[in-house]
Amino acid sequence: MIERCCAELFKGGFRPHQCHKIGRLEHMGRFYCTLHHPPSIAARRALRDKKWQEKYAKAREEFKREALAEKLLAKYSTEELEAAKGVELIL
Ligand SMILES: [Zn+2]
Repeated sequence: MIERCCAELFKGGFRPHQCHKIGRLEHMGRFYCTLHHPPSIAARRALRDKKWQEKYAKAREEFKREALAEKLLAKYSTEELEAAKGVELIL
């Protein structure tokens, strides 16, 4: 017997609707489609979180570098920086 996915979906309105897809994956005695299978959802979420954490780690590192560079350059005047060899200021 083919079972439908047991996920309840809310598409507006007040009552949930049962997913119309065929339940192919079993989890804790209930069948789910590949989209609503809880372990699959957790795996997709973990992958997405990892990607965002990497992105935010890069952004944090870049922000730290900018803040540090700003602190290091604060003790020099603009003239000193312009006179320094290899330093270009874009104003
Ligand atoms: Zn489903």
